[in-house]
Amino acid sequence: MAYDYDLFVIGAGSGGVRAARLAAMSGARVGVAEEYRVGGTCVIRGCVPKKLMVYASGFARDFEIAKGYGWSGCDTPKFDWPTFLTAKDMEISRLSGIYSANLKKAGCDLFEARAEFIDPHTLKLAGLDKTITAERILIATGGRPKVPDDVPGADLSITSEGAFKLEKLPKSILVVGGGYIAIEFACIFHGMGVDVTLAYRGSNLLRGFDDDVRAHVSGELHKRGLKVVLACQHERIEKIDGGFRSHLTDQLTIETEQVMFAVGREPHVKGLGLEAAGVALNDKGAVAVDAFSQTNVPHIFAIGDVTDRVNLTPVAIREAVAFAETVYNDRPTKFDHADIPTAVFSQPPVGVVGMSEAEARHAFRHVDIYRTKFRAMRTAFVGDDEQTLMKLVVDGDTGRVVGCHIVGPDSPEMIQLAAIAVKAGLTKAQWDDTCALHPSAAEELVTLREKYVPSELIAAE
Ligand code: NDP
Repeated sequence: MAYDYDLFVIGAGSGGVRAARLAAMSGARVGVAEEYRVGGTCVIRGCVPKKLMVYASGFARDFEIAKGYGWSGCDTPKFDWPTFLTAKDMEISRLSGIYSANLKKAGCDLFEARAEFIDPHTLKLAGLDKTITAERILIATGGRPKVPDDVPGADLSITSEGAFKLEKLPKSILVVGGGYIAIEFACIFHGMGVDVTLAYRGSNLLRGFDDDVRAHVSGELHKRGLKVVLACQHERIEKIDGGFRSHLTDQLTIETEQVMFAVGREPHVKGLGLEAAGVALNDKGAVAVDAFSQTNVPHIFAIGDVTDRVNLTPVAIREAVAFAETVYNDRPTKFDHADIPTAVFSQPPVGVVGMSEAEARHAFRHVDIYRTKFRAMRTAFVGDDEQTLMKLVVDGDTGRVVGCHIVGPDSPEMIQLAAIAVKAGLTKAQWDDTCALHPSAAEELVTLREKYVPSELIAAE
């Protein structure tokens, strides 16, 4: 049968766009449907605008530091949210335009419409009164923020998506959650002068991260004056004059102008008509795929957050590349999901690659830890108490560095490079062979000589 397209991609986010372009560049006839704006979560309502907000909010502290270096005129800086919002929206439109242009340059047809399966090879393009057929279909629809459905009044709150479009900056906000988005936004709003409370249901933020990282981040947030309420859950939210009253466990009530939920994201599968195509979901409600991103229907593939593997932009892009290599370049390729570097753009930020100490102790017979905490030159100079944490986790038998964890300024930049060494399986001796670059914070990573023995292990000996 002749199809309209060799490949039809649903979703023009980072993963979908990369797959579409690569397939088209290999000679395939490619169509793409996007229901909202080209660029997807990362460009439109995720990584990119978030990072711009991180930069915007970081200046408050920079002005303070500048005073210690002799600058004057830093005492009354003012932040204007509408000015930032307009500039941010222009930049996002510019980037979205580049994504669209690149798709067209590669020869892809772009449809601004929601695509829905009618049968395994046919899609309806809602609003365009059009159906198309394709030999292969790639689902790259990403994820959506979750809002708890068991908290009355939660629908009055915003998520990260609303945070990017707030017409005015609230005076106060309650941010709910203890993961990436909650901590990033709590820091962003705090830096912009909003009175922030972060409320988390667990006993320590950033579950899944190394315990030293978690403790260090909590300590630094506390030093910066961010209010963190732990071990609490929302029972209900009510509208009051000028904002909301959150009722939490233990009869705690918090009144704020805004409430933001950042309690995870879910695969965006709703309304795709996956039943009509016979595509199976896994137990997390994500599209189930194998290592080649192939679903149970052999000509239908899925990449990125909709598969809920590792929900990060560069991962979706690498899954897209592997898909295109496998299907359109005849080079079967699996993306290796091990040792993916990641950052939490909190203030100070976190950069991590590889195993936490707990994971390594579970995996190896002997684990060596190298750890340092120090005050970075830039802020120590002005008497600031911010501490940087660096930690290497080493397989004691082979000497291989299996984890690197940094909390401190520029840690995302450092961890991207450290990830090369971790991914390459370099040993601690090889890290030590590398000459330090002085003066820098990163030089600590190649000058850590003394093993760190946690006090509980000394006590157990
Ligand atoms: P995370 O999974 O990181 O964190 C969700 C948080 O919400 C956890 O602290 C979780 O608690 C808590 N939570 C879950 N359900 C509830 C509930 N019903 N009530 C109260 N709290 C709840 O999700 P995020 O939304 O922060 O981010 C989603 C994903 O997006 C990330 O995992 C990451 O993959 C990606 N991302 C990456 C970024 C980056 O690279 N810098 C930035 C932003 C997002 P508990 O720990 O107890 O489960």
